[in-house]
Amino acid sequence: MIVRVVIGSIFGIGVLVALAFVWPMHFMSPLQSGKIDGTDIIAVRNRINNLFFIPSGKNWIVVDAGSDAKAVMQEMERLGIDGKKVTGVFLTHTDYDHVASLPLFPNATIYMSKWEKQMIDGSTRRQLLKKNRLPKSADFNRIVWLTEDDRISIKEHDVRMIWAPGHTKGSAIYVVDEQYVFSGDAFRVVDGDIRVHPYTMDRVQAEQTIQSIKGELQRYEKVFTAHYGIL
Ligand SMILES: [Zn+2]
Repeated sequence: MIVRVVIGSIFGIGVLVALAFVWPMHFMSPLQSGKIDGTDIIAVRNRINNLFFIPSGKNWIVVDAGSDAKAVMQEMERLGIDGKKVTGVFLTHTDYDHVASLPLFPNATIYMSKWEKQMIDGSTRRQLLKKNRLPKSADFNRIVWLTEDDRISIKEHDVRMIWAPGHTKGSAIYVVDEQYVFSGDAFRVVDGDIRVHPYTMDRVQAEQTIQSIKGELQRYEKVFTAHYGIL
């Protein structure tokens, strides 16, 4: 009898934990794949989030790399995008749903915040039993580590990094041509307002990030989030 109660309780707690984990995903609202109205930018939908392709001469630069490489590959084929022509990938952070299709971009330089290095070199855990890592074929030597307000020029584009910690230690926001913002998981969007994103490592730090960037976001034409479409 006692054994049954114990097993039943463990099972019940397991179900509740699993439900609590997937629940926030119901509120995510990524864009459908395709060209975004009024821009040259192409969104690729990958289950619960988007990655974004920005034309760069005859090539592409990409923000984030999705959760399912096979699905991303299919969408890229449908949209006529050649992964070999991606010259730069800007990672907002290193959670699994933002890095999976890096192997599809073998010629790209990978850019990310220098504060995110600790998330993938084994020194900081994402959760109690979990560390982030890049797909095996992603080469550490191809990473350029960015610091606050670093600017990268690729062909006609200028990309500036803003450090936006909280969701992960080194989460970053990218401002492209001082026009478009790519906010990754620095915040979620609720009724047009920005709040702390689900699965955030440090909620206090995330709130501070939100307070410091909220006003600035209004300066830009469009804010592309990873999971909630355009703000
Ligand atoms: Zn995410």
